[in-house]
Amino acid sequence: MTENKSSTSKTSVDRSLFDKVILPVYAPAQFIPVKGQGSRVWDQQDNEYIDFAGGIAVNALGHCHPQLVDALKNQSEKLWHTSNVFANEPSLRLAQKLIQHTFADRAFFANSGAEANEAAFKLARHYAIEKFSPYKTKIIAFYQAFHGRTLFTVSVGGQAKYADGFGPKPADIVHVPFNDLDAVKAVMDEHTCAVVLEPVQGEGGLTSATPEFLTGLRELCDKYDALLVFDEVQCGMGRTGSLFTYMQYGVEPDILTSAKALGGGFPISAMLTTEKVASVMHPGLHGTTYGGNPLACAVAEVAFDIINSPEVLKGIQARHDLFIEHLEAINKQFNVFKGYRGKGLLLGAELQTKYQGRARDFLNIATEYRVMILNAGTDVLRFTPSLIITPEEIKSGMVRLSQAIEKIVKAE
Ligand SMILES: *Cc1c(COP(=O)(O)O)cnc(C)c1O
Repeated sequence: MTENKSSTSKTSVDRSLFDKVILPVYAPAQFIPVKGQGSRVWDQQDNEYIDFAGGIAVNALGHCHPQLVDALKNQSEKLWHTSNVFANEPSLRLAQKLIQHTFADRAFFANSGAEANEAAFKLARHYAIEKFSPYKTKIIAFYQAFHGRTLFTVSVGGQAKYADGFGPKPADIVHVPFNDLDAVKAVMDEHTCAVVLEPVQGEGGLTSATPEFLTGLRELCDKYDALLVFDEVQCGMGRTGSLFTYMQYGVEPDILTSAKALGGGFPISAMLTTEKVASVMHPGLHGTTYGGNPLACAVAEVAFDIINSPEVLKGIQARHDLFIEHLEAINKQFNVFKGYRGKGLLLGAELQTKYQGRARDFLNIATEYRVMILNAGTDVLRFTPSLIITPEEIKSGMVRLSQAIEKIVKAE
């Protein structure tokens, strides 16, 4: 065997290369993480960071969880890919688990949240067209919602900054204010095929649906033969303290999407639905080449078992309380937060009026003090750490966050 050294050896790269070779749609931090363990991450210079961002609610079991590493290693020596022309064992096992533990009877796998939602919206439209009328196509969605970046999902999302500038959008999508049942009633009619929402809005600022709102939406959907679609891409898979957030409300959707934490860091998404709704689909009507990939499903199966255990689910509220306790202590000292939002470990701290618009500055200064956090919009700091982050990691990250906030406040 001949070895070509130049093609296998790695050339060194640094952050400045990003600005030359990557499509300029992101503004990542100035350091490059190269290694992670639990809720700690190290950069190219071996600086250590505490990770409160969790890869945007993805690394639900931290970095390089040994059982996930094992699952990936084992599957990587067996079978990587079959396509949808052949079934595979990991995807069947994962589907079975998701169905056993939720309202659903059927699963469809894809690779990202946007793709799961794209499938959900197409299914909702097709169901209404098949069962009722070709004119039953209206989708009701909400301002500040986020459903992904394909043209359909970004159009259902309720944020012009993401949706505008790409030409004509898919039609028949109406947006109304979140948690406003009367506004939904005003636009709901027999032409409505679906109401789509995140039970806790993630990107839009961590607003939780009220119980009356979800109950009311369920009733309206039943009355008008529309499907209730929950996008739990961010708030699902343990994030808010139950396997899926809808379980805390006792309101079941007709379709639910999951991604982010589902694979614990390996790309995978799922759309779950009932037998009744699934019955309108047939081979060839929708699909994806990679969806249900054995590597992704093998990792997700293990992630599912760990996240869906009483120990992990029960520990989430305690971690939530610890986060709030630390944030309160910081706030007593510096008076930067107006209040807290979200549920479980999908947590937000809303900035005081004088700091509004500056969430991204807080993020940047936080990285200087070696703690990784997120924003949700311009006024809310967002925390979506590992669901098994330790009290010691939380404490260490909060000391750093406190120093970062002190710097911001002193610079006033
Ligand atoms: C992140 C997110 C998506 C999009 O997921 P991608 O994997 O980025 O396509 C959709 N919906 C919600 C609620 C999300 O938070």
